[in-house]
Amino acid sequence: MITEEFEPVTDTVEEEASVEACTKCTACNTVCPVARSTDIFRGPKALGPDMERFRSPQEAAVTPGLDLCSGCKLCEVTCPSQVSIQEYIRRAQNQGAREKGRSLRDWVLGRTRLLGKLGSMTAPLANFGNRNPLFRVLMERFVGIHRRRPLPKYQWLTFERWFKRHPQPVKPRRKVAYFYGCWVNYNDRRLGERAVAVLERNGIEVVLPRQQCCGIPAVVNSNMDLARRYGLENVRHLSPVVEQMDIVASSTSCGLMLKHDYSHLLEIAGSERVGARVYDIMEYLWMLHEAGELDTTFEAVRDRLPGNAPAEVDSRRQARGSRRGVLWHLRHLWCQGREVRPLDEDRQPPLRCRQGRRQ
Ligand code: SF4
Ligand code: SF4
Repeated sequence: MITEEFEPVTDTVEEEASVEACTKCTACNTVCPVARSTDIFRGPKALGPDMERFRSPQEAAVTPGLDLCSGCKLCEVTCPSQVSIQEYIRRAQNQGAREKGRSLRDWVLGRTRLLGKLGSMTAPLANFGNRNPLFRVLMERFVGIHRRRPLPKYQWLTFERWFKRHPQPVKPRRKVAYFYGCWVNYNDRRLGERAVAVLERNGIEVVLPRQQCCGIPAVVNSNMDLARRYGLENVRHLSPVVEQMDIVASSTSCGLMLKHDYSHLLEIAGSERVGARVYDIMEYLWMLHEAGELDTTFEAVRDRLPGNAPAEVDSRRQARGSRRGVLWHLRHLWCQGREVRPLDEDRQPPLRCRQGRRQ
């Protein structure tokens, strides 16, 4: 297992500071996209450490605007005191939802795997319904999903079914388990096919362990109790797997749940042992590169590449390096003379390959 050969690029666990560490600098408020969009949301500082001091399990946690937190973690990335702002908000959301009752929208959107199963079984019909204006009006009225919110397309052939027919590589050097998640399985099979192709090209056999939704849709829809149930199931399925091989995830959100949130946010026993063997696929490829095992005979890409490291990768809890560091990794691996440009260019200059030219 690569875990035994290399020190991971990312850390699994980093100690978080308590609410007392908050210096009230308000840096978190300045980066929060929700606080910038609406006054109903009083900002991460007020809803996180400020209110946490006064919350108690016996008292009602219903606070106006609390549900609007999108879970992007930008506040936590920015906080100089490493306060777990978002985790305080999540716990309060869950307690509030328990007290006031959960909406139909939260019930539906928290069950991505069930939704995906139904959507892919009825793919042409479900996709038609999701585009149909009348159906969207009804959905807005009864479920609370805005009629103009684009919805993902479902695919009839799931990634799991595709993989069953996929031939295994001959004489692989390594073996990994792939946590593909609901999105790849029901909405974007091709992403999973590409992940498998890249790993197999580097002599790695891919196996699919039994898995449940990672639980992040339940967390962001104020249902940590459901997320915990899913997490317990995943830890039960994945615990024997990590005795034999590492796990890679192509979804940074799923990876962060397995790696960090199961132990910190959901407090699932045994999840740290699983999390220590989970890698984001980019991190895993980088370790292969360091081992001299990565096939780098790429063809040059004749394009400018937008680079956007997701907030989860940016999070200090998943990546020891900064987002810029991750983009540098990308540059070394793939840009081959091209320019990799972070999407928010106003904050950082573009990264360029040494031999690259501006397009
Ligand atoms: S950024 Fe951190 S220290 Fe500053 S106000 Fe927000 S929680 Fe407090
Ligand atoms: S997680 Fe994102 S949306 Fe939620 S408080 Fe922090 S910055 Fe705002």
